[in-house]
Amino acid sequence: MPSVAELLAEARQSLPAAEARLLLGHVLDCPAVWLASHSDDTVAAERAAEFSALAGRRAAGEPMAYLTGKREFYGRKFTVTPAVLIPRPETELLVDIALQKVGAGGTANILDLGTGSGCLAVSLALELPASRVTAVDVSPAALAVARGNAEQLGTRIDFVTSDWFAGLPAQLFDLIVANPPYVAAGDPHLSSGDLRFEPAGALTDHADGLAAIHRIVAEAPSWLAEGGWLLLEHGYDQAAVVWQLLVESGYIAVEQWPDLAGIVRVSGGHHAKAC
Ligand code: GLN
Repeated sequence: MPSVAELLAEARQSLPAAEARLLLGHVLDCPAVWLASHSDDTVAAERAAEFSALAGRRAAGEPMAYLTGKREFYGRKFTVTPAVLIPRPETELLVDIALQKVGAGGTANILDLGTGSGCLAVSLALELPASRVTAVDVSPAALAVARGNAEQLGTRIDFVTSDWFAGLPAQLFDLIVANPPYVAAGDPHLSSGDLRFEPAGALTDHADGLAAIHRIVAEAPSWLAEGGWLLLEHGYDQAAVVWQLLVESGYIAVEQWPDLAGIVRVSGGHHAKAC
């Protein structure tokens, strides 16, 4: 039977040390740091084979989050599968802004469009326990993952299978958030790194990257309560066009927010209701 040190040494021929440790920690169900003080421990043959298989898949490019089935978002561990986009650190900005808009302890009727893993909906529901959160996705497989995350993390969300607003029961929301597919067809990022393994429908509109954003911006006003906010994540190069779209579509108090890297990633506004 191989030792922890032998397995890690072998995997390091094709993987960064940190990834090898995370994968072995995952297979042995122990924290990666534990491995350092147990390098001479032997590993059962099946576990070793399981680890080698995962290391091989990682070396072939599969995302760490799909191999371990987990990704942290806003301080909580979410289950992820290839049915959902892997939560990104920059999307945490959308949670921060949503919390500012609702205010600590606020009660709001909140909608998350295209929830995927549920990372936005679940984080908002847990941070704003007095609020009501509805989450929609067009993919039943994604909704199953989101539902699992809501249960595992201990919150209640109304899940609806819906193509954006199309299947939603009529109501008004104080806050609508969305991290829609905004990568343009043919963007080279789609054929590199983790994105190759993620659901295409969560990443791209198969057009110019703005189709989903156009649709959400156009339809949201009929679902927003007076003074309610629409907050959207968009691509690193879409800030100017999204600003213009919001203004031309009758949104007021349009605002944009940079992520930690200084890139404007989130835009929003509320809609001037005709009275
Ligand atoms: N932020 C993702 C990326 O470019 C895209 C996510 C999305 O399309 N909503 O890697």
